Amino acid sequence: MISQRKIIHIDMDCFFAAVEMRDNPALAKIPLAIGGSRDNRGVIATCNYPARVYGVRSAMPTSQALKLCPQLHLMPGSMEKYKTVSKQIRAIFQRYSPLVEPLSLDEAFLDVSDSAHFNGSATLIAEDIRRVILAETGLTASAGVAPNKFLAKIASDENKPDGLLVITPAEVAGFVEKLPLAKIPGVGSKTAERLAQLGLIHCRDIAGCDLAILVKHFGAMADSLLKRSKGIDERPVRTERHAKSVGVEHTLDTDIDVYHDCVSAMTSLWPKLQLRLANQGEQGLQKIGVKLKFSDFRQTTVECQANSVSLEQFLPLLQQAWQRRQHQGVRLVGLQLGFTPPNPGQLCFSFYR
Ligand SMILES: [Mg+2]
Repeated sequence: MISQRKIIHIDMDCFFAAVEMRDNPALAKIPLAIGGSRDNRGVIATCNYPARVYGVRSAMPTSQALKLCPQLHLMPGSMEKYKTVSKQIRAIFQRYSPLVEPLSLDEAFLDVSDSAHFNGSATLIAEDIRRVILAETGLTASAGVAPNKFLAKIASDENKPDGLLVITPAEVAGFVEKLPLAKIPGVGSKTAERLAQLGLIHCRDIAGCDLAILVKHFGAMADSLLKRSKGIDERPVRTERHAKSVGVEHTLDTDIDVYHDCVSAMTSLWPKLQLRLANQGEQGLQKIGVKLKFSDFRQTTVECQANSVSLEQFLPLLQQAWQRRQHQGVRLVGLQLGFTPPNPGQLCFSFYR
């Protein structure tokens, strides 16, 4: 039964910055950010809490971050170091469940529905994972426990840093009722704005809405919006080696009208995609693609065959996608990798074990 799933979302607290602060405690007291330089149109990957006080946020252009906080200590960061810690925490997850879906280096969903640990208490499992991560890496993680993925993800964010929130099946209805639509993963600031213009602020505002009306305003997103607002999310936790595609995307703070900015946005996604690829391996890579979403919510994807991947290969695809914008701005940039599906026998075995 879908409603009986037990999903944990674990999210490390300001991960890259936390690793640097662990290794050099002097950095803990000053505003710190890991990110690209201002000169190269860099963006902030992660920042610590002292930096957040100034309004610095991840995915913010470095130039803007330095305006908000001129004394910001900016570090390029060390991907190798973060990957090592990431491997450590993934090994910890595997002790609790084989069904682990990493979302990035520092974040993962675990399906512990069939776990025998702690008599199957997802709450106790989540607490134990947090305890073990701290003991073995010196870093704090936050966790969300819920009957599905999107609620677990929202929950892990509620009591950050070093926090836990459990949403039991009985609490789902009450929780989503008061939940701002803007908190649903995938609802960016632009969508939230459009929802607000229609008087839709909280999930309860949308729950009784007619799907056809939502489709008119939000296209393909309408169906999932309606489902999420009722607390429904049927997506299973998928381990990466079963993934048929891997993608990273970023909804921009402001829509882009200049091609060069679009290239920058795409470039800033590249390290993320490389990490996802590192999890999955290049084996079976079949195609690569660029996805753009425009101001009018139209979406386009340009793909090509490929069995290896580099940033340069995405440029001609971006150019083609850009030409389809019909004078609209770009609100979302995504990079995608397509793989040949694993053989079905294997898939079933792992799925049911
Ligand atoms: Mg995190």
